[in-house]
Amino acid sequence: MAAERRNGGTAEGSPEGRRPDVAGEHSSAVPPFRRSAEPSDPLAPCVHCGFCLPACPTYIATGDEADSPRGRIVLMRTLERNEIGADDAALTQHLDACLGCRGCEPVCPSGVAYGRGLEQARARLFEERGLPPLARTVLGVFRHAALWRPLFTAARALRAAGLPRLMAGTGRFGFGMGMLEASRRRRWPEDNGRHEAGAPGAPSAGASDGGVPGAAVPAPPRPTVALFRGCVMDTLFRHVNDATRRVLEFNGYDVIDVEGQACCGALHEHAGDRAGTAALARLNLAALSDSADYIVTNSAGCGALLKDYGHLLHDDAAAVALAAKVRDVSELLAAAGPRPGAPLALDVAYDAPCHLQHAQRVHDAPLAVLRAIPGLRLRLLPGSDQCCGSAGIYSVLRPAMARAVLATKIEAIAAAEPRPRVVATGNPGCLMQIGAGLIAAGLDIAVAHPVELLDESYRRLSSLPSPSRPDRLSVHQWPPAFSSTSTASSSTTSRSTATR
Ligand code: SF4
Ligand code: SF4
Repeated sequence: MAAERRNGGTAEGSPEGRRPDVAGEHSSAVPPFRRSAEPSDPLAPCVHCGFCLPACPTYIATGDEADSPRGRIVLMRTLERNEIGADDAALTQHLDACLGCRGCEPVCPSGVAYGRGLEQARARLFEERGLPPLARTVLGVFRHAALWRPLFTAARALRAAGLPRLMAGTGRFGFGMGMLEASRRRRWPEDNGRHEAGAPGAPSAGASDGGVPGAAVPAPPRPTVALFRGCVMDTLFRHVNDATRRVLEFNGYDVIDVEGQACCGALHEHAGDRAGTAALARLNLAALSDSADYIVTNSAGCGALLKDYGHLLHDDAAAVALAAKVRDVSELLAAAGPRPGAPLALDVAYDAPCHLQHAQRVHDAPLAVLRAIPGLRLRLLPGSDQCCGSAGIYSVLRPAMARAVLATKIEAIAAAEPRPRVVATGNPGCLMQIGAGLIAAGLDIAVAHPVELLDESYRRLSSLPSPSRPDRLSVHQWPPAFSSTSTASSSTTSRSTATR
């Protein structure tokens, strides 16, 4: 964490065109993800103090002890001791309702590795009782690119036709349409017509995605980065993958495309399907090993699992080596500065994805990315440390609980003053869940990945008279004018930020 603060601290005054600070004497600038020593009994340290209860979104939603981390730990321990079976109704109900967000881990004074305990319990449940038909079908689709790619390609066509925008709403179907609509690429309002046709810096007629104009070429050698494309990111969020390539190139990395990649397997891992997860991991291992200096992902959920491939594949040397190279895009950008862009006058609320903040323990790097955009009024969303209810396919399998958890997030956004124009978050599931929730609530607030905003800021660079680089803005806590729940969340966020 301290290293991460150092990364952010190198941003000011970073010389144009310098090599990202990722190797040589400053290699600690982007520290490799390190697994803590694997606990043989991850739930054993629990002393039942209950400090984790207020951090658990499902406990907040139901108020039921069995929907809290402490309650679930009791259930999992009872399963371990074979005092209940995998078909026990209470076990099924309350463990299945866990989001796997790991929001309970950082607040636990005893260091309970809840995520590892849940992983073991779910693997046993998968072995002994299997999965319900809907989950089996969805995971089966994600196992083969020949299935998910045409499906998402059809969804893109539907989105391009504008139907999700018309049909988005509150019911189950309407919410699904809202999720699809939320995955759409945004077009941000231009400043003072700077990008009217023919103006300097205006995208050419054939340019579909903007791009970084006039990029100075940093001195070689540049670190090579293989983009992990993912499944949803490679289809519904391809514009974010394109933006990721551009902003990394602009910040001194050589981005390479690697064929033969598969879905990361995070959805299968959450469901306890360890064999299915391992099969996908081996495909990615074969494709990505020795491909580049770094493997970069812009999906927090994918990153958390890619960084855990060594554990998943039982410390296979190649898997450990690959996992050590994996970085979230914000980590690489923070190490490079990142270079500041042109002004983008937007009120932006940052909401941290669980699998970035709790699983990968990456906190400051996404803020460094957004701080590189002059004029952007950045705030931390109260309750940013709490899950939005997406959690992989959880929102498909358990829509009622997912919506109940989301409601807290939407209330915090709606109560924020000044009201954000954009909610920024670095995970596709969160973008779709929060985006659909905002549409259902009738709030005219967009969602965007942080690199989309930075990419747009870079696109506008060429319209500035040079040199013109307004100062960065600092991150402010949102004014504490919220309900008691939101205020408590706000102070929690503030404390945790201060200690990062
Ligand atoms: S998991 Fe940690 S915080 Fe929660 S009850 Fe157990 S010891 Fe306390
Ligand atoms: S992982 Fe999330 S939902 Fe599950 S017990 Fe922990 S805080 Fe609650």
